[in-house]
Amino acid sequence: MASIVLENITKKFGKVTALDGVNLQIDDGEFIVLLGPSGSGKTTLMYLIAGIYRPTSGRILFDRRDVTNLPPKERNVGLVFQNWALYPHMKVFDNIAFPLTLKKTDRNTIQQRVHEVTSMLKIEALLERYPWQLSGGQQQRVAIARALVKQPQILLFDEPLSNLDALLRIGVRTELKRLQKDLKITSVYVTHDQAEALAIADRIAVINNGKLIQVGTPEEIYYKPRHTFVAGFVGNPPANLLNVEFDGTKLTIQTKTFQAPVELLQKISGRRRIVLGFRPEKGILLDRITENAVGIEVQIYEVESMGREQIVTVSIEQTMVKVLRPSEEKFQVGQRLFLCVDIKDLMLFDFETNEALDVQ
Ligand code: ATP
Repeated sequence: MASIVLENITKKFGKVTALDGVNLQIDDGEFIVLLGPSGSGKTTLMYLIAGIYRPTSGRILFDRRDVTNLPPKERNVGLVFQNWALYPHMKVFDNIAFPLTLKKTDRNTIQQRVHEVTSMLKIEALLERYPWQLSGGQQQRVAIARALVKQPQILLFDEPLSNLDALLRIGVRTELKRLQKDLKITSVYVTHDQAEALAIADRIAVINNGKLIQVGTPEEIYYKPRHTFVAGFVGNPPANLLNVEFDGTKLTIQTKTFQAPVELLQKISGRRRIVLGFRPEKGILLDRITENAVGIEVQIYEVESMGREQIVTVSIEQTMVKVLRPSEEKFQVGQRLFLCVDIKDLMLFDFETNEALDVQ
């Protein structure tokens, strides 16, 4: 186990700035997920922690020790990649033992360590098989075993589940979370899948364009996004974000004007424009406006069943908004209703900077 500190990390590849002044502290035994869209810099950050890349500027500390210039093999880091790259000509035992064989570890220790990790991951019965005789989920566990056998102080996962089908992903993800909790090895996990990040992380670090946008628990990231990017990236469907104009008394979306409780008007006083956000499950569709809520007349545009719930897309003139409602509620395309959101469920962002207003 080890804590990790990334201090003002910048990484450039020629003219491309892959990471720009990243500061991040990861606690001992913590499971942190790096979440961001393709090209945001997640893998680059992971490679910097592993020692595969050196930063252009900034420092990396493990347990307060500066490792910025240490090569990968001196960092005691285990890696699990998207392509698990098991050696096809080696049986599972030899695949797992390989990092120890490289280090010329004695035969008895190898036997013992392989036994420990394979019993933990419940793959002891597979030791005599070749990788092509394994399912995707089993191969993935072998790859994790190979990373664990070195007894690393830090584990790095780069989209480790992306080659598995949807159902298997959910199963393996649960196991991985349990395993990490049991072993308490500081882990950094890269994904672009926000649902996976919310499910598995102690804390999520959201990255966009090489910049760290927000670091927080899944609850903080989901309910208290500090930036419209986080609100619009996390959640399925993600938060609705509406550009709203304000004249001091009433609010307007495009040309549609609506009233809001005084409490909200006070929070945004002095502003001409804001971005108003809310989670789809926080929207209510009624034939009247409820108390303590903002309410605006909308028209039902489309209804999609998801089984237990339904996604109801409503229009405010040209602006589409998605609301998640229980399947029992019935809606008809074309129907006019009021979309209401309790003011405690509203997210308010600055129109220019896209950052959350500190008024809640
Ligand atoms: P993905 O989810 O698609 O893997 P990512 O978030 O992991 O994306 P990175 O691979 O870290 O993103 O890339 C960040 C940026 O740096 C991208 O613009 C990418 O094109 C660039 N980049 C990464 N590696 C190199 C390299 N070796 N040479 C030049 N540019 C690079």
